[in-house]
Amino acid sequence: AKQEGRQCYRFFTQEMQARSARNLQLVNALHHALERDQLQVYYQPQVAMQNGHVIGAEALLRWQHPELGMVSPAEFIPVAEGSGLILSIGEWVLRSAVRQAKTWIDEGFGPLIMAVNLSAVQFRHPDLPELITRILDEEGLPHEYLELELTEGVAMHNPQGVIAVMNNLHERGVRMSIDDFGTGYSSLSYLKKFKVYKLKIDQSFVRDISTDPEDKAIVSAIISLAKGLGLKTIAEGVETAGQLAFLREQGCDEMQGYLFSKPVPIEQFEALLKQGF
Ligand code: C2E
Ligand code: CA
Ligand code: CA
Ligand code: CA
Repeated sequence: AKQEGRQCYRFFTQEMQARSARNLQLVNALHHALERDQLQVYYQPQVAMQNGHVIGAEALLRWQHPELGMVSPAEFIPVAEGSGLILSIGEWVLRSAVRQAKTWIDEGFGPLIMAVNLSAVQFRHPDLPELITRILDEEGLPHEYLELELTEGVAMHNPQGVIAVMNNLHERGVRMSIDDFGTGYSSLSYLKKFKVYKLKIDQSFVRDISTDPEDKAIVSAIISLAKGLGLKTIAEGVETAGQLAFLREQGCDEMQGYLFSKPVPIEQFEALLKQGF
């Protein structure tokens, strides 16, 4: 048993070393990602349940590194947050997405709501509201076309502080939504104090919605909660016609998922806008 324990320990530290070596490699590489043009914003359509029209886009960051290949944001966003790089990267994403939304409006694609993910580090930064209004005004995008996606975890970490920032952004005309809703520990009493516009139903509940009675119950409860509070709902991770049918029946307002499109580069998104799905 002693022998086994030691092996187990050795395995554990090796794995930890490998992980921190990879983290170090990612931090170093990420430092140059912006200036070396390795970052790109992809866009995934958000679709109205009523008529299937594309009414918005979520901006999702992509990192293509010459040696490491395509690194998933699920892996590099936490690294960017830990190193503080998320502030400059996040600002670049905001700027790119806002500029793109303005271009699409100018090109006659109609008003599209541009949804941008915000990390906790960005949200806690005291200059955030000023930064956002500056970007919107410099790019000439009306404030109500930007929607900031904030995860439930971020919102509940320091609800009082979050309420103050939300009020500030709300006064500036910027919309906010709660991402991954249902996965955190939202106190429902806070939900009514948060100046949010929309709840994004997490994809983990949507996945088995056609077959799992518990997931059905959770999703339909979230939708009726949102309705009661006057909030819109969007379901993420919609991949099948069966999921779509259930969501429609429950009165979910919008959808996003591979059933319509994966996140795609600008040109492909424009093709979707022109031709539909
Ligand atoms: P998220 O904000 O919850 O984004 C949704 C994720 O689900 C995206 O993964 C998207 O590509 C994926 N997805 C969309 N539809 C489907 C579907 O039908 N099926 C499945 N299985 N997946 C679907 P992605 O692009 O890899 O991003 C992962 C996470 O990285 C995001 O989760 C978000 O938390 C973070 N992230 C991405 N871009 C940014 C960014 O610019 N800033 C910040 N702070 N975080 C970002
Ligand atoms: Ca999101
Ligand atoms: Ca999400
Ligand atoms: Ca997520």
